[in-house]
Amino acid sequence: MAKKSVELYFVVMDALAEHYRILLGLDTSWKVDEVDLDLESERVVIRVSHGGGALSCSECHKECSGYDLSPERVWRHLDTMQFTTEIRAQVPRCKCVTCGVKTVSVPWAEKHSRFTLMFEAFAIKVLSAASSVQRAAVLLGLSWDAVHAIMERGVERGLSRRDLEGITHVGIDEKSFGRGHDYVSLMTDLGSNRVLDVVPDRTTEACDKLWETLTETQRNTIQGVSMDMWKAFMKSTAAYVPNALVVHDKFHISKHLNEAVDKVRRSENKQLRADGDDRLVGTKQLWLFNELNLDETRHSELMAAMRSDLKTGRAWAIKENFRNFWNYCYGGAAKSFFESWYAWAIRSRLQPIKNVARMLKTHLPVACSPKTDP
Ligand SMILES: [Zn+2]
Repeated sequence: MAKKSVELYFVVMDALAEHYRILLGLDTSWKVDEVDLDLESERVVIRVSHGGGALSCSECHKECSGYDLSPERVWRHLDTMQFTTEIRAQVPRCKCVTCGVKTVSVPWAEKHSRFTLMFEAFAIKVLSAASSVQRAAVLLGLSWDAVHAIMERGVERGLSRRDLEGITHVGIDEKSFGRGHDYVSLMTDLGSNRVLDVVPDRTTEACDKLWETLTETQRNTIQGVSMDMWKAFMKSTAAYVPNALVVHDKFHISKHLNEAVDKVRRSENKQLRADGDDRLVGTKQLWLFNELNLDETRHSELMAAMRSDLKTGRAWAIKENFRNFWNYCYGGAAKSFFESWYAWAIRSRLQPIKNVARMLKTHLPVACSPKTDP
């Protein structure tokens, strides 16, 4: 490499290290030594070290003198594009007069976690959106146990900070565990993506327990609750926070619509295959996507399927059309959009779609809150 390009290389690498230091939210007592991009294994490794300044004991927080460096540890961080990203560091140990030799705390992770706090916050978001812990584990590329541990640490963080901040919007969700019919219900603070509590079951009593983890004063500050149209949750919420606005958000509604489209597809596929027609075989995922998110090949597959006048295509069009509902900001306009959408859905002769339409109509006064939708 010519001298000029060697210089340029180091300038770029320095800038990259500095960029990652800021991205990780590290103050200047920590430095990013190296950012290593491994194209082969699709991995970004960020090597971090302590800058050599004052150390404090992780137990009593008193300043103490350095002792040695602990063996290198690895933390999984948020992916960089599609590349798995990890932080590696040898964390200094200090000698505290009161507590003995202690490893100092790192700002990017909690004591025993193998994940950074940012990764854990992201994992909790995925967990809130996924239908089951198993599904979240697959999406995150983690074991069930790892996801469960992240959830538990999330609850602890939620508990320890709960008194400090006003909570105004919460989400209540049910998650199935594995293949069985075991459920848990969890409450998240939508303002800060922390889990407030997780309880077994998805009954009214379970939801009551969630509400009881908040004090009455805290419940009075709740303005909005985002949750599924699940009777047990509706009942409990109406009893505990009667003044909060209940919102069945885009996520929950599109989950029901997607399920309805899939039911139509499954029964139509069965009929078609009996006649030796396998147009719908292997298309499950195709109908679940938002049209705008499809790549060109998938999009033309979808358009071809639509032109062939399949029931599934009709169900999909009704589902996709409902997206427009969220564009209306005023009650009246949203209501008249809903009326014409509803009439279309009811005339569709597609039972699963009709069922969802009826359910939405029952809940319309509460579902119709596009302004508060994220
Ligand atoms: Zn100490």
